[in-house]
Amino acid sequence: MNFTELGLTKRISAVLEKLNFVEPTEIQQKAIPVIVAGRDIMASAETGSGKTAAYALPIIQNLKGTSERKPRCLVLVPTRELALQVQSQFERFSNNSGMRTVVVYGGTGYEKQTRLMRRGVDVIVATPGRLFDHIERGNADLSNVNMLVLDEADRMLDMGFLPQVRQIVDEMEGRRQTLMFSATISKTVERIASEFLKNPVTVQVNTSQVEPSSIEQRIYHIDEAGKDALLVQLIKDEPEMHSVLVFTKTRRKASKIRKRLCTSDITAEEIHGDISQSQREKTLARYREGRFSVLVATDIAARGLDIPAISHVVNYDLPMSAADYVHRIGRTGRAGRSGVALSFVCADQRHLMRDIEKVTGRPLDPNAPQQKNDHPSDHRRSRPRNGNGASRRFSRRRTSSASR
Ligand code: AMP
Repeated sequence: MNFTELGLTKRISAVLEKLNFVEPTEIQQKAIPVIVAGRDIMASAETGSGKTAAYALPIIQNLKGTSERKPRCLVLVPTRELALQVQSQFERFSNNSGMRTVVVYGGTGYEKQTRLMRRGVDVIVATPGRLFDHIERGNADLSNVNMLVLDEADRMLDMGFLPQVRQIVDEMEGRRQTLMFSATISKTVERIASEFLKNPVTVQVNTSQVEPSSIEQRIYHIDEAGKDALLVQLIKDEPEMHSVLVFTKTRRKASKIRKRLCTSDITAEEIHGDISQSQREKTLARYREGRFSVLVATDIAARGLDIPAISHVVNYDLPMSAADYVHRIGRTGRAGRSGVALSFVCADQRHLMRDIEKVTGRPLDPNAPQQKNDHPSDHRRSRPRNGNGASRRFSRRRTSSASR
């Protein structure tokens, strides 16, 4: 199957060929014909599945023949990082066709965004809070928007954006095509879908696509005090850990881990809510260029981050939800590449592991002993040595779908 068979023009297919997009991904195969046909869509698809192209390509095709420069397409996303990535994908795919996109998000000045919107644009990619502020200030006119994308809808709901999304949608007049993408389809997401979509086609991709089978998952049973030493040891021992994304719970911990790594001569930087937007973008650019090997992040970076070269994701702290686990590990093993996800699990976190297993549908640790053996001083438990938390006695369990 190729992209023209899905209903895309030869012109767009030629651009894709240059970008080395040979085969459409599953979400692209299922969603593109529906969108080209003008139908509303409710799609469950994860970052990493190729979902951005699945909606951006038919939108770009639809937008050709620009008239007055009032925006005709609006893409709402939960985070700044995702907004920037979606915009850059629109620009890549439209390949100097003259289509104008603007990206609008909070944490940065209004002036430039206002200027770009007033100059005239075809596509706005925005986080709901900031776009709503612009509407209130009279900077954004959505009356001509006839294509609306709600990307990572579940995340937008989790972040409390529903009131702003409603107010933004109220600004649109006339008929519109609405495309909703969500990693999970909960009852709330379904309710929102019935509010914003008209007679939608539902599209689902395989779980194996959501959680790419190319990702090898490993579990390390370790106590809190031993995590730093284990991380340092793993990175030093495994030369293939050259581009690592470490997830931790809090901003303070992220800083602490980064410092600890640097003390051990491992190049590392941090990204979280205490770091300014412009600094975060600079850090991400440096990471993409491979200027340092470990990026320590809180969940703010979990969504939308598109760094194809990530070799390893480390869950230094397990996420609070299974959905976040899937989002996090989706940063590696993207678009056909292989990747490794390592998780540090403390003895009191078995319940989180079980939640994750329910969502991913496979055991994280197939060799785990029964509950009663969880705490003894067995070989699977790391113990600090010499008071510095270092230990070589951690244990590792691997689970790879490739072996099943
Ligand atoms: P997304 O799920 O939209 O975040 O896309 C993940 C990554 O896969 C991005 O870097 C895309 O450029 C890339 N990608 C999307 N579709 C394809 C495809 N058909 N072939 C190769 N790479 C793709």
